[in-house]
Amino acid sequence: MSLSTILRRILKPTLPPFLGAKSTKQQHSLPDPEELPADAHSFPAGVVVFALTAYFFSSALPYWKPLTWWLLVTGCGVLRLWVIHRTHFDKMTEQERCWRLRALIWMYMAAMSSATYFLYVPDDIAMLSILTLYLLGNATILIAHLTGVDWMRTFVALLILGVPNAIHLIIDGITMDQRVLWALGCCSLIAPIPFAQISAVQSRLMRKQFESRLQAEGAAKAMSSVALAKSRFFAAISHDLRQPVHAIGLYLDAIERVVAESGNKQARNAVTGITVSWQTLNDLLSKVLDLARLEANMEKPDLHPLCLASLIQEVVLQHSSIAERNGVRLIALTKPDCWVYADELMLKRVLSNLLGNAIKFAPSGSTVAIAVRRSLNQWRVQVRDAGCGIAQADQALIFSEFVQINNHARDPSQGLGLGLAIAKRLTELQGGTISVRSRAGAGCCMTVTLERYAPASAPIPVTPANVAPKNDFFNADTRAMHGLRVLLVEDDVLVGGAMLQLLQSWGSRVHWEQTAEGARRYTLKYEIAICDVRLPGKESGLTLATGLQAAGKRVLLITGETDSESRDYAAQHNILLLTKPVSPRELKSALETQINSPQ
Ligand code: ADP
Repeated sequence: MSLSTILRRILKPTLPPFLGAKSTKQQHSLPDPEELPADAHSFPAGVVVFALTAYFFSSALPYWKPLTWWLLVTGCGVLRLWVIHRTHFDKMTEQERCWRLRALIWMYMAAMSSATYFLYVPDDIAMLSILTLYLLGNATILIAHLTGVDWMRTFVALLILGVPNAIHLIIDGITMDQRVLWALGCCSLIAPIPFAQISAVQSRLMRKQFESRLQAEGAAKAMSSVALAKSRFFAAISHDLRQPVHAIGLYLDAIERVVAESGNKQARNAVTGITVSWQTLNDLLSKVLDLARLEANMEKPDLHPLCLASLIQEVVLQHSSIAERNGVRLIALTKPDCWVYADELMLKRVLSNLLGNAIKFAPSGSTVAIAVRRSLNQWRVQVRDAGCGIAQADQALIFSEFVQINNHARDPSQGLGLGLAIAKRLTELQGGTISVRSRAGAGCCMTVTLERYAPASAPIPVTPANVAPKNDFFNADTRAMHGLRVLLVEDDVLVGGAMLQLLQSWGSRVHWEQTAEGARRYTLKYEIAICDVRLPGKESGLTLATGLQAAGKRVLLITGETDSESRDYAAQHNILLLTKPVSPRELKSALETQINSPQ
């Protein structure tokens, strides 16, 4: 580095980019160590040390000398702190502050160094050695204090602190022919070089650490924006994907009726094939979107006290017919007082998945057991089967997406490999864990562990909710739909057309509007309004539904959105909300529930 560069750096100070920028705190959050309040806090301790040093030297010097030294050093220290902590200092630009700090530390070091004149005990080698050691000690404190600051500030401060005393020692050593003295002087003269080196290395390390931290923060920010983009993407596509799948499902019902009436076996087989494919697509879509919603933290659990016994009974009831068909005996071992704090729908989905898998893999004639066990503050729900089991090596994989151990051909009728991945996330959302214990060929035991809930008073028992009917397109009893007057509010022509056709095929009388404004204008009598949530124009399906409900109408909401906003709104206003794709069975069941409910 040339002399002019050095001079420029001394005279035109700039902080290293990672330091001290109060004005740009977001980018450079590391403050200049000289501005830290810790500096002010440690100053009183420094004053005491100065006083003890003065007292020590007073044994070899007239008392006024160490006293003057103490007053000088302490006074300069106070002045420096006063300048730094004035509000005016905060308002300076970064460069002005840096320049002021440099000037202050150099002034302070100059005061320290020149004040040593008052502690200088000529001819007393012991005292002079102690004085030199004292200065070297101060130099190390200076390095520790200025680590991270520009090395020029440190180096010049070290020179100012040590050099005058070093020259004094060398001159005295030579004139008095005292080897110890000039050796001490040389040491003090050379010491700033390694000290400055140490300071520079420390500063470099600090900068690296800071840069790594900035990088990590940048990466975390990028990750969170990717997650946000992902959730936005899924929210957008889920609506657009659900619409046509929902419409196909509705049209299929009508086609099935026509085909069943025509008695054409070939056509019936084709429709059965389409129906099965639709169900697989529907299932895959729902599961992938569920998983995306869980990954994007869009699914919030509605936790409340739940009695495991009644919930398990319900899940077992749902699976009894499939277990019977597979020749599997299903037993539930529960206790009446096993309460957990969980989301009813989420927990049902988890246990349904485990029970469904157990029944699927259990050999005919065997038993599948679902049992509740207590362990300390937790309840463990175990689902056991005597099926093929899972090899140790595969156990860690089964909770990942799209993993199926024995379905290399990826036959969708054997599942999609998403059930356990979703079950794991749903359990974790409720603060629980899910684990597997198994050996290849020796059955499987899946355990869901949930925090035990100890109700203060007897909680309200959970009433079994309506068991969702199977997606059976055939032989649906639609007598209740005959003559039902329906106002359909749906902007999508495809979905609206399909709904209209389906409802009409059930014998309902339907009036179809595409906007909320149109629906409001419709004055003829109708028994129920089916409203899509997303409608064109100023008014959404949600406000339309609450408006109609307030006017004494029965309302059913349908949405293709994945966010919880609509669900929360519907729950708040006590309106039944179905999520697309809705099967004809689900639609019929929801309509029946609404019609039979008191107005
Ligand atoms: P799927 O929907 O395909 O059943 P899951 O995520 O529920 O997907 O299960 C993933 C894989 O874990 C299954 O394909 C199966 O290989 C294995 N598995 C899950 N439960 C059992 C069980 N009770 N017995 C044996 N294997 C099981």
